[in-house]
Amino acid sequence: MTNPTHIDLRDYIRDVPDFPKPGIMFKDITPLLGSPHAFNATVDHLSRPFAGERGLKVAAIESRGFIFGAAVAQHLGAGFVPIRKPGKLPWKTHRSEYALEYGTDALEIHEDAMAPGDRVIVIDDVLATGGTASAAGELVRRLGAEVVAYSIVIELTFLNGRDRLGGTPVNVAIHY
Ligand code: AMP
Repeated sequence: MTNPTHIDLRDYIRDVPDFPKPGIMFKDITPLLGSPHAFNATVDHLSRPFAGERGLKVAAIESRGFIFGAAVAQHLGAGFVPIRKPGKLPWKTHRSEYALEYGTDALEIHEDAMAPGDRVIVIDDVLATGGTASAAGELVRRLGAEVVAYSIVIELTFLNGRDRLGGTPVNVAIHY
Protein backbone atom coordinates (compact mmCIF):
# COMPACT_ATOMS: atom_id res chain seq x y z
CA MET A 1 0.00 0.00 0.00
CA THR A 2 1.54 3.29 -1.08
CA ASN A 3 0.98 6.56 0.73
CA PRO A 4 -2.04 8.18 -0.94
CA THR A 5 -0.35 11.59 -0.79
CA HIS A 6 2.39 10.27 -3.08
CA ILE A 7 0.24 9.18 -5.98
CA ASP A 8 -0.01 11.42 -9.05
CA LEU A 9 -3.73 12.01 -9.48
CA ARG A 10 -3.11 13.03 -13.10
CA ASP A 11 -2.46 9.36 -13.86
CA TYR A 12 -6.15 8.70 -13.12
CA ILE A 13 -7.64 11.32 -15.45
CA ARG A 14 -8.43 10.22 -19.00
CA ASP A 15 -8.41 12.82 -21.78
CA VAL A 16 -11.27 12.20 -24.22
CA PRO A 17 -10.97 14.41 -27.32
CA ASP A 18 -14.06 15.88 -28.98
CA PHE A 19 -16.52 14.90 -26.21
CA PRO A 20 -19.32 15.95 -25.90
CA LYS A 21 -18.62 18.02 -29.03
CA PRO A 22 -15.70 18.78 -31.37
CA GLY A 23 -12.91 20.86 -29.85
CA ILE A 24 -13.58 19.89 -26.22
CA MET A 25 -10.94 17.81 -24.43
CA PHE A 26 -13.10 16.11 -21.82
CA LYS A 27 -11.45 15.26 -18.51
CA ASP A 28 -12.86 11.84 -17.64
CA ILE A 29 -12.71 11.20 -13.89
CA THR A 30 -14.03 7.61 -13.99
CA PRO A 31 -10.54 6.01 -13.70
CA LEU A 32 -9.98 8.12 -10.57
CA LEU A 33 -13.35 7.08 -9.12
CA GLY A 34 -12.51 3.44 -9.83
CA SER A 35 -9.34 3.59 -7.75
CA PRO A 36 -9.99 3.58 -3.99
CA HIS A 37 -6.51 5.06 -3.51
CA ALA A 38 -6.93 7.92 -5.96
CA PHE A 39 -10.50 8.69 -4.90
CA ASN A 40 -9.51 8.75 -1.25
CA ALA A 41 -6.51 11.00 -1.94
CA THR A 42 -8.72 13.37 -3.94
CA VAL A 43 -11.36 13.64 -1.20
CA ASP A 44 -8.55 14.21 1.28
CA HIS A 45 -7.10 17.00 -0.87
CA LEU A 46 -10.49 18.66 -1.30
CA SER A 47 -11.16 18.52 2.47
CA ARG A 48 -7.75 19.13 4.06
CA PRO A 49 -7.69 22.96 4.18
CA PHE A 50 -11.02 22.95 6.05
CA ALA A 51 -10.41 20.13 8.53
CA GLY A 52 -11.27 21.15 12.07
CA GLU A 53 -13.49 24.07 11.01
CA ARG A 54 -16.85 23.86 12.68
CA GLY A 55 -20.28 24.58 11.28
CA LEU A 56 -19.33 24.31 7.62
CA LYS A 57 -21.71 23.33 4.85
CA VAL A 58 -20.65 21.64 1.64
CA ALA A 59 -22.56 22.61 -1.51
CA ALA A 60 -21.88 20.56 -4.63
CA ILE A 61 -22.85 20.99 -8.25
CA GLU A 62 -24.83 18.32 -10.16
CA SER A 63 -23.82 15.83 -11.18
CA ARG A 64 -20.15 14.92 -10.94
CA GLY A 65 -19.71 17.43 -8.12
CA PHE A 66 -22.11 15.33 -6.02
CA ILE A 67 -19.73 12.35 -6.06
CA PHE A 68 -16.96 14.34 -4.41
CA GLY A 69 -19.17 16.72 -2.43
CA ALA A 70 -20.95 14.00 -0.47
CA ALA A 71 -17.64 12.37 0.43
CA VAL A 72 -16.10 15.72 1.47
CA ALA A 73 -19.16 16.56 3.59
CA GLN A 74 -18.86 13.26 5.41
CA HIS A 75 -15.09 13.73 5.81
CA LEU A 76 -15.60 17.19 7.36
CA GLY A 77 -18.69 16.33 9.40
CA ALA A 78 -20.54 19.01 7.41
CA GLY A 79 -24.07 19.17 6.02
CA PHE A 80 -24.48 18.60 2.29
CA VAL A 81 -26.43 20.94 -0.03
CA PRO A 82 -27.21 19.89 -3.62
CA ILE A 83 -27.07 22.56 -6.34
CA ARG A 84 -29.01 21.10 -9.25
CA LYS A 85 -30.04 21.57 -12.86
CA PRO A 86 -33.44 23.28 -13.33
CA GLY A 87 -36.58 21.37 -12.40
CA LYS A 88 -34.90 18.72 -10.25
CA LEU A 89 -35.30 20.15 -6.76
CA PRO A 90 -38.79 19.59 -5.29
CA TRP A 91 -39.08 22.60 -2.95
CA LYS A 92 -38.94 26.37 -3.56
CA THR A 93 -35.76 27.36 -5.38
CA HIS A 94 -33.53 30.23 -6.44
CA ARG A 95 -32.11 30.04 -9.99
CA SER A 96 -28.93 31.38 -11.60
CA GLU A 97 -28.23 31.25 -15.37
CA TYR A 98 -24.66 30.70 -16.61
CA ALA A 99 -22.53 29.96 -19.68
CA LEU A 100 -20.71 26.60 -19.95
CA GLU A 101 -17.53 25.79 -21.85
CA TYR A 102 -20.00 23.98 -24.15
CA GLY A 103 -23.44 25.64 -24.09
CA THR A 104 -25.57 27.47 -21.53
CA ASP A 105 -27.42 26.21 -18.51
CA ALA A 106 -28.88 27.18 -15.15
CA LEU A 107 -28.52 25.99 -11.58
CA GLU A 108 -30.98 25.94 -8.69
CA ILE A 109 -30.78 25.71 -4.92
CA HIS A 110 -33.49 25.21 -2.31
CA GLU A 111 -34.25 28.58 -0.76
CA ASP A 112 -34.02 27.10 2.75
CA ALA A 113 -30.81 25.13 2.06
CA MET A 114 -28.68 27.58 4.03
CA ALA A 115 -29.09 30.67 6.14
CA PRO A 116 -27.34 34.02 6.59
CA GLY A 117 -24.05 33.45 8.38
CA ASP A 118 -23.57 29.89 7.10
CA ARG A 119 -20.03 29.18 5.86
CA VAL A 120 -19.97 27.12 2.69
CA ILE A 121 -17.43 25.17 0.62
CA VAL A 122 -18.50 24.78 -3.03
CA ILE A 123 -17.37 21.54 -4.73
CA ASP A 124 -17.21 20.56 -8.41
CA ASP A 125 -15.17 18.24 -10.61
CA VAL A 126 -13.82 20.72 -13.20
CA LEU A 127 -13.21 24.48 -13.16
CA ALA A 128 -13.14 25.48 -16.84
CA THR A 129 -14.43 28.97 -17.77
CA GLY A 130 -15.73 29.46 -14.22
CA GLY A 131 -19.34 30.10 -15.22
CA THR A 132 -20.71 27.11 -13.32
CA ALA A 133 -18.75 27.75 -10.13
CA SER A 134 -19.56 31.44 -10.21
CA ALA A 135 -23.31 30.73 -10.63
CA ALA A 136 -23.17 28.29 -7.71
CA GLY A 137 -21.42 30.88 -5.56
CA GLU A 138 -24.03 33.46 -6.49
CA LEU A 139 -26.80 31.11 -5.29
CA VAL A 140 -25.04 30.58 -1.97
CA ARG A 141 -24.63 34.33 -1.48
CA ARG A 142 -28.22 35.01 -2.46
CA LEU A 143 -29.22 32.98 0.60
CA GLY A 144 -27.02 35.23 2.73
CA ALA A 145 -24.37 32.56 3.27
CA GLU A 146 -20.62 33.02 2.75
CA VAL A 147 -18.54 31.11 0.17
CA VAL A 148 -15.44 30.28 2.22
CA ALA A 149 -13.75 28.58 -0.74
CA TYR A 150 -14.22 26.57 -3.88
CA SER A 151 -12.71 23.09 -3.73
CA ILE A 152 -12.34 21.60 -7.20
CA VAL A 153 -10.83 18.37 -8.50
CA ILE A 154 -9.44 19.73 -11.81
CA GLU A 155 -8.63 23.30 -12.85
CA LEU A 156 -8.10 24.05 -16.55
CA THR A 157 -5.80 26.93 -15.68
CA PHE A 158 -5.48 28.21 -19.26
CA LEU A 159 -9.20 29.13 -19.28
CA ASN A 160 -8.71 31.56 -16.35
CA GLY A 161 -11.96 30.46 -14.70
CA ARG A 162 -10.84 31.61 -11.27
CA ASP A 163 -10.85 35.22 -12.53
CA ARG A 164 -14.67 34.98 -12.38
CA LEU A 165 -14.71 33.90 -8.75
CA GLY A 166 -14.08 37.32 -7.24
CA GLY A 167 -10.93 36.44 -5.34
CA THR A 168 -12.61 33.66 -3.31
CA PRO A 169 -9.95 31.03 -2.45
CA VAL A 170 -9.84 28.03 -4.79
CA ASN A 171 -8.39 24.73 -3.56
CA VAL A 172 -7.52 22.46 -6.50
CA ALA A 173 -6.34 18.82 -6.58
CA ILE A 174 -5.08 18.69 -10.21
CA HIS A 175 -3.98 21.61 -12.43
CA TYR A 176 -3.68 21.51 -16.22
P1 AMP B 1 -17.28 26.02 -16.67
O1 AMP B 1 -18.62 26.57 -16.30
O2 AMP B 1 -16.84 26.42 -18.05
O3 AMP B 1 -16.22 26.30 -15.62
O4 AMP B 1 -17.43 24.44 -16.77
C1 AMP B 1 -17.41 23.65 -15.62
C2 AMP B 1 -18.46 22.58 -15.65
O5 AMP B 1 -18.55 21.95 -16.92
C3 AMP B 1 -18.14 21.51 -14.64
O6 AMP B 1 -19.32 21.20 -13.92
C4 AMP B 1 -17.64 20.34 -15.45
O7 AMP B 1 -18.27 19.16 -15.02
C5 AMP B 1 -17.98 20.66 -16.89
N1 AMP B 1 -16.80 20.73 -17.75
C6 AMP B 1 -16.38 21.83 -18.42
N2 AMP B 1 -15.30 21.57 -19.16
C7 AMP B 1 -15.01 20.27 -18.96
C8 AMP B 1 -13.99 19.39 -19.45
N3 AMP B 1 -13.04 19.81 -20.30
N4 AMP B 1 -13.99 18.11 -19.01
C9 AMP B 1 -14.94 17.68 -18.14
N5 AMP B 1 -15.93 18.45 -17.66
C10 AMP B 1 -15.97 19.74 -18.06
